[in-house]
Amino acid sequence: MKELPTDEVRAGLEILRKMGVMEIVFSGGNPLLREDIGEIIDYASRYFVTTVYDNGSQAVKRIEALRNVDFVAISLDTLDERKYDYLKGIDGAWKSAIDAVETLHSQGITVGVSPTISQLNMYEIPQFTEHFCDRGIPVLYCLYQHDSFEQPMFQIGEKDAELEISDKEAFAKMCDALIEKKNRLHGILITKKMLNALKLLTLKGERVWKCKALQSFFMIDPLGNVAGCHLQNPVATIYDLPTLWNSSRFERLRKTYRECDKCSYMCYMFYSIHADVQGNIEIVRDQWKNAKKILAK
Ligand code: SF4
Repeated sequence: MKELPTDEVRAGLEILRKMGVMEIVFSGGNPLLREDIGEIIDYASRYFVTTVYDNGSQAVKRIEALRNVDFVAISLDTLDERKYDYLKGIDGAWKSAIDAVETLHSQGITVGVSPTISQLNMYEIPQFTEHFCDRGIPVLYCLYQHDSFEQPMFQIGEKDAELEISDKEAFAKMCDALIEKKNRLHGILITKKMLNALKLLTLKGERVWKCKALQSFFMIDPLGNVAGCHLQNPVATIYDLPTLWNSSRFERLRKTYRECDKCSYMCYMFYSIHADVQGNIEIVRDQWKNAKKILAK
């Protein structure tokens, strides 16, 4: 796949810095497959809160590149080795992920596990959470979804009936269990507000947030194209962004996205629900113990 060369990535990051962007998440595919990822991370982590996602296959090999990152999230859905290898369709996927988490943790890199909650692992998520939080490893959740748009910017989830949440009552109970655990465990990286919103969405189909795509978050592909989210069409390149950011065209797009309810990816939900000042205060209140622990490292 074609990608921007290093100097153009740096130029893009410089544009984002000048625009006042605060956080960058490198996700994939797998960003650690880039030869120059260490250089990119070093540069990004000087100016932004930087998170990198990996499925466990690259993090140990690229450990030097990860030393300056603020947070590494390793995808891992279950403590059951056979189940995870089955879910990923790769023998050894679970072992690679666990090895990556343990190695990075032992090297003092802030690493967490990121389970994608689905019908197949939902019942074990509270125990999974307890297991990692007890070991000082934070848990950052995703929710199983498949892309419903014809031509997404890139594909995240594939349709799989086995993974769709069908036991909605159990899902709500899982949210309640995580809310209860947040009172006594450090490292549950989801807010109570998010958990309550997910419960309401699952049980009653009510959506208590408006999407803030192209406002509090946006997506950039490896060629520097910018879209509100990975499901919407690109609307600019990173180089046009400063000129277009306050344009009437972008305002119209934001209005359209605010009315969109085509997905409930947790990351988009998070940056929508906690986008305003009130939302930021709620994050600080909800997450200050986790933040203190991460910053102390
Ligand atoms: S709800 Fe927002 S993030 Fe989801 S598809 Fe619509 S615009 Fe994109």
